[in-house]
Amino acid sequence: MNSTIVLGARYRSLVDDVLSRLPHGWNLVDGKLKDVTFVESDGYPSKATGLAVTEFRPSPFTQMRQRYHRVTLYTRNLSKVSDEVVRSAIAHELGHVVSSHLQRLVNEERAEEIADILAMSWGFAKEWEAWNAANL
Ligand SMILES: [Zn+2]
Repeated sequence: MNSTIVLGARYRSLVDDVLSRLPHGWNLVDGKLKDVTFVESDGYPSKATGLAVTEFRPSPFTQMRQRYHRVTLYTRNLSKVSDEVVRSAIAHELGHVVSSHLQRLVNEERAEEIADILAMSWGFAKEWEAWNAANL
């Protein structure tokens, strides 16, 4: 598995759960594996209701810049929502990981839609509905 997980028990279990449901090769894009590290933060996200964010991990090698990602899970907000909503947020962030090479080609709204569509294509529609119902 191309992922490193630095998490407490609840989020480790939920991340493992989401990863186990992804189709084979989910992170293989144009013949390259997208790598992801998960960390949790008890800090404040940039958006007050934010649950998670995906960023590139710095790489000195230009050609690798779009391969290494870090997903930060914001535990202050995630602790207030159901496991289903947390799974939805994780799947959505993995959608950002897989589509990160498109980031510069699309606006933010479109990037969010792409992440949602990917998460739903992986079978997380029920979780997506729970996230929407939570009205964050
Ligand atoms: Zn997003």
